[in-house]
Amino acid sequence: MAARQEREIIWQGLGVSPGIVEGEAVVHWQNEEEIPVHNITPEQIPAEIARFEVALIATRQELLEIQQKISAAIGADDASIFDAHLLVVEDRTLIDEALRGLERDLNNIEFVFHQVAEKYCRTLAAIDDPYLQERVVDVEDVTRRIIRHLLGKSREELHKLDRPHLIVARNLTPSDTALINRELVRGFVTEQGSRTSHSAIMARSLGIPAIVALPGICTKIATGDYLLLDGYSGKLVAYPSEETVFAYRQKEEQQVAVAHQLEAIRETPAKTRDGRHIVLSANIELPSELDAVAASGAEGIGLFRTEFLFLNKTVPPSEDEQYEAYRQVAERCRPHGVIFRTLDLGGDKLMHLTEQTSEDNPFLGCRAIRLCLDQPELFKTQLRAILRAGAHGHVRLMYPLIGQTDEIRRANVHLEACKKELADRGVPYLHDMEVGSMIELPAAALIADQLAKEVKFFSVGSNDLVQYTMAVDRGNERIAHLYQPTHPAVLRLLAMAATAAHENGLWIGLCGEMASEIHLTPLLLGLGMDEFSVGSPAVPRVKKALQSLDSRDCKELAGRAARLTDPQEIENLCRDYAKQHYPELFDF
Ligand code: PEP
Ligand code: MG
Repeated sequence: MAARQEREIIWQGLGVSPGIVEGEAVVHWQNEEEIPVHNITPEQIPAEIARFEVALIATRQELLEIQQKISAAIGADDASIFDAHLLVVEDRTLIDEALRGLERDLNNIEFVFHQVAEKYCRTLAAIDDPYLQERVVDVEDVTRRIIRHLLGKSREELHKLDRPHLIVARNLTPSDTALINRELVRGFVTEQGSRTSHSAIMARSLGIPAIVALPGICTKIATGDYLLLDGYSGKLVAYPSEETVFAYRQKEEQQVAVAHQLEAIRETPAKTRDGRHIVLSANIELPSELDAVAASGAEGIGLFRTEFLFLNKTVPPSEDEQYEAYRQVAERCRPHGVIFRTLDLGGDKLMHLTEQTSEDNPFLGCRAIRLCLDQPELFKTQLRAILRAGAHGHVRLMYPLIGQTDEIRRANVHLEACKKELADRGVPYLHDMEVGSMIELPAAALIADQLAKEVKFFSVGSNDLVQYTMAVDRGNERIAHLYQPTHPAVLRLLAMAATAAHENGLWIGLCGEMASEIHLTPLLLGLGMDEFSVGSPAVPRVKKALQSLDSRDCKELAGRAARLTDPQEIENLCRDYAKQHYPELFDF
């Protein structure tokens, strides 16, 4: 069983994606963050050059081996992409510049080389030539390999591993998570992150058990260690004893039994006991999740995070590429609908695709609708693609991070211009596309009555709403205890938004992670949410919860919660209430 037989060690992190899995660890080093810097003397230069040469030769050898492997497995055509990688190892511009930098700066070679390569990539990316822009990815990949050799760290690549494993990493970017091979990655553990960080959200969508917020775990675990990961409780066990493995396997079996029971309600509507029909839809990041959505029994898609189509791209996808992806989603969702959320780049997502320089406070910076209004061509390309997809299904769109009425108006001006452009081109599109506003800023909730005049629906992004209300970075594990969805301030904002929606004849949904917390379902129902949009694995449990509740009683519960002052007390009240109404979902 264990690679090294040792005494069981248990760490407590934050379980962010349910499931219990076991297997060998692979420690994934992100050396971008870990490149040491120190001064050298002129006498040490020859030794640094020698180290550099050894690393270049080793990288070349590694690339040749990968090329041979791929060629044998899937053919020479696919392997030929490594020709470009091999050229990078021999690129004199890069190498000579690094040698000059070494003499000039008198720093260690890995640091100097990293600086030179970064500059080189920035220059390539800025040239208006798709071929050169594509090469940035090659240069980055090869640079990482060279630096890994210099640091003596062999990092196995996530998407190239050929045996089942659990990933242990400092952090996983959304791009890393998208590249994960679902067949082989049984789970992941990260030092950083929170329930609402994007890799956690993706882990849940992909059905990969995960634990985050375990500082220092990369240095405590080595590749090859045997681990047991409990994504429900957040416990990570290294070298589990036989009794521990047995106990956890039983726990997982109970879970699977509950999941089987929920199969029976898959095709039924999410109707409350008093007959209120709640729309229960799914959140997705990638079209590849459509099968899981269909299998979950969701009523369409309440949030498509379109920015994930931009992952692992050096340039944004074209209008046609986006249209193809959106059309496929719209067609597959029929007879239900799909809500495309326009680009939410910035914050922790994909800044390399935008034209901006880095910001000190990206979550308070030029992100989402702000960035789209700042870069109209990027925005309009997407709007045209969504409008065109609207001709193939029931499509709506919504704008993220709205804080001002004027932002909706300006976005709509672009939308109208896009309709005209498509009409002029003679391309079919949805003429009366319904537009909604996300409620993610306290400001938006406070002026919801004004925003309601501009749109047809609201969707609350509680991940951001809680972050901005509490001034707590949603991805920072050190202050995760201050991230409180049941804080009275959050409840008041939700109530204000719901009231404003209903008074103006709009419906209001909630598509943040709060919607999948079954202990909060009674509260959200009581606050007046008409729609819940959750990651597809959570759909059956939330449906069961909704079917077990009476919305009038929940309204009374929300009233009681509103009179309390302590977030923990409100959470306990909700949990006790939920446990009374659907104990079977809590019984493990
Ligand atoms: C949210 O903020 O709740 C939301 C749904 O958007 P995202 O998680 O993509 O920021
Ligand atoms: Mg958001």
